[in-house]
Amino acid sequence: MNSFSFAALTDVGTVRTNNEDSALASTTLLALADGMGGHAAGEVASAVVLHALGRLLAPEKEIGPDAVRDAALEARQALRAMSQADHDMEGMGTTLVAIGVGPEGTTLAHVGDSRLYRARHGELTQITTDHTHVQRLVDSGRLDPREVRTHPYRSVILRSIDDTSDDLPDVDLTGDLLPGDRLLLCSDGLSDYVTPEVIADALAHGSPLDAARELMAGALRAGTRDNVTVVVADVHDSEVTPVAPVATAAEAPVLVGASLGQAALTDEARAVLVAAFPDAATELDTLPRSPLPEGGGDPVVEPEPEPDTLEPEPVEPEPVEPEPEPAEDDGSAPPEPTPGGAEGEPPPALPTTAMDVVWLALVVATFAAVTLGVWMFEA
Ligand code: MN
Repeated sequence: MNSFSFAALTDVGTVRTNNEDSALASTTLLALADGMGGHAAGEVASAVVLHALGRLLAPEKEIGPDAVRDAALEARQALRAMSQADHDMEGMGTTLVAIGVGPEGTTLAHVGDSRLYRARHGELTQITTDHTHVQRLVDSGRLDPREVRTHPYRSVILRSIDDTSDDLPDVDLTGDLLPGDRLLLCSDGLSDYVTPEVIADALAHGSPLDAARELMAGALRAGTRDNVTVVVADVHDSEVTPVAPVATAAEAPVLVGASLGQAALTDEARAVLVAAFPDAATELDTLPRSPLPEGGGDPVVEPEPEPDTLEPEPVEPEPVEPEPEPAEDDGSAPPEPTPGGAEGEPPPALPTTAMDVVWLALVVATFAAVTLGVWMFEA
């Protein structure tokens, strides 16, 4: 059976103020989800799907096509129930790309425009085919593949795990994985902004962490407007003892980006989520939540933001305080989950450098807390 050594990195990108990407990396399962939806629902959608998949890492579980399909289905049902319980979450959904090893072999799952690449003997191959409008144009010969990256409708995805459709990921066994292969899972915040040549170059040398850092730096240099997430993993034959032992810390699963720990849910949405995934109860709302962009996010279509969004966003300098309990459920609409929707005059903006420092601290603290949480959960 194969196993992975891995690194996972995520970044909100140069424009957005919240991260709807989520990624899970472990020795047997790599997964990445890019959420979408207003009022932070995108963060919830990606976190719920990765929570469902992450449960397959439990000792009594095995990773295989049926288990992955069931996890995706359970997650979709949970998203549906949550958006019925909290109408602010309507329209939420997420992409998924995941590859895992189990007794049956290697399972690949994919829906949406998050991608899996494989580098083998210096040659880069895109393993997944996007479920997007522009990919359909390419398939029918109406668009040059080189124009996909910059096409104005490149973000229009045709399938996702979401609260309204009956879509599920394509899930299949793949024999196409060899020791020595290097894999990359990425969100479109990377693949829309760097060329395949840059990706191939970054994967060609160094450790998975070196490659992940180089890819992230490339996306940020290119000014990515989207969240960026990369998981880089080397494939090993776990029957063979590696010459240089893989660092022990890298063997503990890591979760980066959106997580249930950050979820700010209404009581109703929380109740249906816990009903679907009882083990989610201990993770919910354990981390400070990242703030929202004004007006929340958007559904599947992501129009190119106007240049003026480069102005500093109204960002709280401190982690958002936990939502106060609603005094009485009188059936009225729940309070806005964040201060991001303020339509009036924006709060005084911090100097860009100060915001960067605050953000870096927040991202580092979140990463550390989530990683620690996953280790403790596993231990
Ligand atoms: Mn994205």
